[in-house]
Amino acid sequence: MSTLRAHKIGSLLFCPTCGTLLDLPGDGERSVKCEQCGHEEPGSSYEGIEITTRSHPDAFPSPLQQKRKTQTKRHEGEDVGKGTLVSEKCPECGHLKAWSKEMQLRSADEGSTIFLSCASCKHGWRINN
Ligand SMILES: [Zn+2]
Ligand SMILES: [Zn+2]
Repeated sequence: MSTLRAHKIGSLLFCPTCGTLLDLPGDGERSVKCEQCGHEEPGSSYEGIEITTRSHPDAFPSPLQQKRKTQTKRHEGEDVGKGTLVSEKCPECGHLKAWSKEMQLRSADEGSTIFLSCASCKHGWRINN
């Protein structure tokens, strides 16, 4: 007797006569009956909604995971940097320029350690501050 169709709000359907949230139809069910007023909503009203609900769990995780992967790659690339070129004499070949990288140790008492690598022969050594 009633030709009213349910109100769609997002992925939810609400009864057009009393405003009650309608359940999704079970397998094989052609319509959903409103628990409050007995309004029968045809199952066809849910067709578009079921598709969007199903696509959500698949659509969200993959772009998020891809974002995380690219962010991790960028961080690794920054750590590989040579550091700053400083005037330090290489104990191995006597070259006067070396790449310097300062590393803060866990304990504050130990201060920081400067890692040096010769710009000429790539020999590596460290200086404790
Ligand atoms: Zn109702
Ligand atoms: Zn050297």
